[in-house]
Amino acid sequence: MQNPFSLENKTILVTGASSGIGKATAIECSKMGAKVVITGRNKERLNETYLALKGKGHKQFIADITSLCKTNDLGTIIPEINGIVHCAGIVKTLPFQFTTMEQLEQIMNVNFTAPAILSQLLIKNKLIKKGASIVFISSISGIFISIPGNSMYSASKGAINGMVKGMGLDLASKGIRVNSVNPGMIQTELLNEGRISDDQLKEDIKKYPMNRYGKPEEVAYAVIYLLSDASAWVTGSNLLIDGGYTLK
Ligand code: NAD
Repeated sequence: MQNPFSLENKTILVTGASSGIGKATAIECSKMGAKVVITGRNKERLNETYLALKGKGHKQFIADITSLCKTNDLGTIIPEINGIVHCAGIVKTLPFQFTTMEQLEQIMNVNFTAPAILSQLLIKNKLIKKGASIVFISSISGIFISIPGNSMYSASKGAINGMVKGMGLDLASKGIRVNSVNPGMIQTELLNEGRISDDQLKEDIKKYPMNRYGKPEEVAYAVIYLLSDASAWVTGSNLLIDGGYTLK
């Protein structure tokens, strides 16, 4: 029986694939049959992801997304693709009153401008096939909630959620779908770096009705749905995946 969630015969570009959600997404997409093109800045960590991919025909290349979106000859680096997953992103605590223009520009550039312009450039270079799906990893921080010190991060993610709606409209006639997933706190290496104490973590986890943080794979499964033909009629949506955090 045909599996509507299969990614067989699809080539998927994953940015930020060296770690966390991007790494899990690349690996899970390969398990669903996709050929995956992965990019990131750290050669060793990107290669670790590459070696963990299932199947054959995958590609990797090193790039900073803020430069990649200014590359004219993208076709020499990236093959024709059926989907993009924009996972590259930065999280910075920037109290509103003390944030400089440079800090705001940096967070907007990495989280919003570069993924937007890269998507545009791939379309202009005819590297995105008809029927393709573009997925942004946004966040619950943005249009759903925010937390102290997160106004600029929230702005960068909220901008993505708004753009997804306009892009969905603008690209529907090209048969390109555009959606985002909006995770709550996901258990990635960042949490193991000791920046947040165990007591703080325990308190924070209590805010999640399902009593735990999410796993990178659980974000990847939502992304797979949005990349696959199972979601062929879904565009312009911002999918929450937060263990019920925003219900309270
Ligand atoms: P992560 O730090 O492991 O992944 C982000 C990746 O983006 C890293 O590999 C990093 O090197 C890369 N990156 C950063 N700047 C880049 C640049 N200029 N060019 C290329 N790559 C760059 O963290 P993650 O949790 O996997 O985050 C992935 C995405 O998910 C981010 O957009 C983040 O905002 C979003 N998100 C994460 C969580 C969470 O709790 N982990 C929750 C909601 C949303």
